[in-house]
Parts: sequence; structure tokens; C-alpha cells
Amino acid sequence: MPSDIEIAQSATLQPIQAIAESIGLGAADIVPFGHHKAKVPLDVARSRGGAPGALVLVTGVNPTAAGEGKSTVSVGLADAFKLRERNPVLCLREPSLGPIFGIKGGAAGGGWSQVVPMEEINLHFTGDFHAISSAHALLAAMLDNHLYRPNSLDIDPTAITWPRAVDMNDRALRSIVVGLGGRTGGVPRQDGFVITAASEIMAIFCLADGLEDLEARLGRIIVGYSRDGEPITAAQLDAVGAMTVLLKDAINPNLVQTLGGTPAFVHGGPFANIAHGCNSLAATRAGLALGDVVVTEAGFGADLGAEKFFDIKCRFGGLEPAAAVVVATVRALKMNGGVAKDALGSEDVAAVRAGAVNLQAHVENVRRFGVPPVVAINRFTSDTPAEIEAVTAACREIGATAVVADPWGGGGEGCLDLADAVQSVIDSGEADYRPLYPTEGSLVSKLETVAREIYGADGVDVAPAAATEIERLERIGLRDVPVCIAKTQYSFSDDPTLLGRPSGFRITVREVTPSAGAGFVVAKTGAVMTMPGLAARPAAVGMEVVDGAVRGLF
Ligand code: ADP
Repeated sequence: MPSDIEIAQSATLQPIQAIAESIGLGAADIVPFGHHKAKVPLDVARSRGGAPGALVLVTGVNPTAAGEGKSTVSVGLADAFKLRERNPVLCLREPSLGPIFGIKGGAAGGGWSQVVPMEEINLHFTGDFHAISSAHALLAAMLDNHLYRPNSLDIDPTAITWPRAVDMNDRALRSIVVGLGGRTGGVPRQDGFVITAASEIMAIFCLADGLEDLEARLGRIIVGYSRDGEPITAAQLDAVGAMTVLLKDAINPNLVQTLGGTPAFVHGGPFANIAHGCNSLAATRAGLALGDVVVTEAGFGADLGAEKFFDIKCRFGGLEPAAAVVVATVRALKMNGGVAKDALGSEDVAAVRAGAVNLQAHVENVRRFGVPPVVAINRFTSDTPAEIEAVTAACREIGATAVVADPWGGGGEGCLDLADAVQSVIDSGEADYRPLYPTEGSLVSKLETVAREIYGADGVDVAPAAATEIERLERIGLRDVPVCIAKTQYSFSDDPTLLGRPSGFRITVREVTPSAGAGFVVAKTGAVMTMPGLAARPAAVGMEVVDGAVRGLF
């Protein structure tokens, strides 16, 4: 099997105009970026009438470190719908440069199920991440400039919560001191960087319902507190107009194609822990307006990504998902059944059976949102028939349909059975989406609901500092909002070593921070990283340009 990049580079791509045309967009409706990428202005998709397409979420079990193929299955499923002569649109997140140079592994699918041009999507693409990093930097610069000037808002330099952001894994920037340049060098203070995917601007960008809403949300960003404890917002710093200027083109969804020629919107890329982990609402809306079935993905396992997709994105966006695909792999279930990472390649039916409780819990959770699930067993060449049967049997026990899919080796052809199973769920009209909790209510009651009902915890313990912050946030108007829980992706609990379907545990909330512009409160459990570091041998080592072509990227 050739590598992902070899497959992607050998593909013959259609001009982006032809892809646009397949969803009813003419040359004047798109803004091309080269031959194979285009932006589709927000008002173009908005102007299309007709019944919206059916929305299908792709989510997964608690993964191994390598990922279980949610993006790969999403691409394969969309291509399978195309082979079935539907009019599918795929919606995915934009990759971040941090992981690309950090850990080996693509973010544009894999094997014969990829979005292309793969290198461009993985690298600078249409510049959205740069625009977001720049808007973030502008607010940081205006904040420090305000401190340096007479500080008319009386901002407390020790109570600043707006970090700096860069799209790179750089552990040395996690905690820094700024303002060391002497009298004209600004006010010295402790600061730190987050990766752009963790910037609140990324979350806002992905939830904004157009430019006006974007501007209003940017204005609500809390950058810190005054000396008498009142929140200071981006609007008070007069930064919002200029930030919107930087983002005005980026907010338009990016159109590309899959290897199977399916139109794909790849737009926005928030972290699935401190943010909501799915592509922009603008892209999903565009897909629903232009296609008859929209396949989209939420990051990490269903406890993190799907919960936030349903409780944050669908709630804010008024979306009504018709079906969910829960991706499971034999290797992830084996790991959840207690097998060590280096032994995942050998047959172990008992471990698959033991680990399948993890899959069952995710399937039951998806049902809590009123969305009918289909299990996709993403086939790896090392899987044995007995192991696959063990997964299927575990699904039968809870009345869930399970289908083997081979998007990696077989592209859309490898996902036809999955597409048929999802189509019959869509046709059943069974979906009756509802969020898990109402937004009205105390923050702690909402944290308790997610912890008990989705994670299977006995309850939530709030650390003293977090409890004080919760009181403050509720006082300043952030009570009746959804909660966005940052937690390890490896376990239902906040302990990454508790695999399978743990019970008898509690969730500890260490820290609570406002994302007032995004419209939620982030609760951090365990050790959550907002600025990752590089590995001992980063993936960047070994990348090069040979005769004008990129080598060594996946
Ligand atoms: P996720 O979206 O769950 O993080 P990805 O779709 O990005 O996972 O896949 C992670 C990696 O695994 C990619 O490098 C992809 O090529 C590879 N992969 C996915 N499915 C398979 C498969 N069935 N067989 C082999 N490799 C796969």
C-alpha cells in the first residue's frame, strides 16, 4: 500500500470549478485559490433555498494515540454516498500545523479516503489559521498597549486571561515573561502562548453565524479583570472592528474535493477539549444548503467530540442531525480491553470482547441525544474474522447495527454497506435530536449531568479555586450557558489509564475559564494541554522539498 502522500500526489484532481458545479455553484459563486481550492462566500450558500440535507455525525470510541480513523471513515462514507448517486457534501476541520510537525499522521483522512490537495490542506491552505492567529495577536498587542498607556480601564496586570497564540507545538512558550524591554518595552508580566486551535477566536470563528455575529462574539471576549474585579472585554479595548477586518475572508468556507470527487468543506479547526472540536457552523450550513446528505466529524471519542457537537454546535446552530456513525477499531477495543500498545497487532478475541463495553457506552450515549447510531468497524489489515465478529456481537447485544467499512484500503467502494445502513437510518426518520441539558441552571448542575450521564461518573468535585471562579462567572452573566469540558480523550474518566467502561470514579474540575465570545464556560479536568510540545524526534525531521514536491509529509 502506497503512503498517504503518494496516493494524494498521484491523484488526478478535478478543477475546483467542476466540483463547485456539482453542487450548483457557478464560476461567479466561488473565489478560487489556485486550481483546486476555493472560498464560497457565506451569502452564496445562504441564498440557496430548498430542503436542507440530512446531517450525519461521525464520532468514535475512546481512541488509541494514533486515532481510529474518524476522518478516514468520514471521507469514505461521503464518497460512498456519491457512488450511490446521492449529492453528498463532506465537512471537516482544517488541520493545525502543530500536530503536523509534531506527531506523524495526517488530518485529511488516509489511504484511499483523503481530501485533496492534501499537502496544501495540511500546510497553509487558504490562510485561515494565519488570519485567526493574527486576530488573536492583535487583541494581545492592543491589550498590552493599553496597559502601557495610562491604563484608563484600570486593568490588573496580574489578572490578564488573554494569552498569545501561534500555530505550532512549542512547549517553551507555555509560560513566558513579556515586557522586558525597559521603559518603552511595555509592562513586564507573566504571559503564555496557546496553540491557535485552542484560541477562543477559533471557537468563535466556528460558531459565528455570519460577520455581524462574529463581530458581536469577538466583542464579548473577556481578556482579564480590572483591579476591582470587573471583566474587561475586547469591545472595551476597541479591538473588534480591526479583528473582524482580519477575519472577514477567512470566515467563508473552503471548498476542496475528496479522492472520489466529492465536494468537501474544510473549515475551522478548534481543539476538541477546551473548545468544541468540529468544523465551522458556516461550513456545515453551506453543506446542508448545497447537498442532500452532509457527513461531518467531531474530534476524539463521543464522550468529548459528540457531546460538544450536540450540546454546543447543534444547540447554537439549530442543527438537527439525522444519524451518527460511531467508529470503532479492533485495536482500540483491544486496548480498552487491557492489551498493551505494542501487542495490538496479535489476535485477542477475549480482549476485544472486554473492550467492547467502551463501544457500547458510546452507542448508548449517542442515543441519549435522540440520534440513532450506526457502528462502523474501521477495518485494519491485522483484524481477524473472530475479532470482527466479537465487535458485531457486542453491538447486537444492545440492538445496534454494525457494519465493516474499509475506507483506507477501498475508498468509497469500501464504505457502500455503511452508506446503505446510514441511509436506512436517515429514511426511518427516527432521529429526534435533543441536547442533554437545558442551558438554564447552575454551571455545577450541568457539569454533574455530563459527568454522570455521559462519563458514567459518580459526580463532580470542584477544586476550591474553580469554585470561586464559578461564582464569579455566574455573577457576571455566564450561568445559563453550555459547559465545555476539557478532559483526556483516552478514558471516560479524567484519568487516562482507566480504560473500557470505568465506574466508581468522580471527575475533578481543577480550573474554570470563560469563553464568553464563544458562549460557553470551559471546565478543565486532569492535565489539559493548550500548548502541546514536540516529540523527541518530531515529524518535521525528514520533511523536504524534492524537485518542487513535498516529501516526508505522512
Ligand atoms: P481520527 O480522525 O480518528 O483521528 P484519522 O482518520 O485521522 O483518525 O486516521 C488516523 C491515521 O490512521 C491516519 O494516518 C490514517 O491514514 C490511518 N488509518 C485510518 N484508518 C485506517 C485503516 N483502516 N487501516 C490503516 N490505517 C488507517
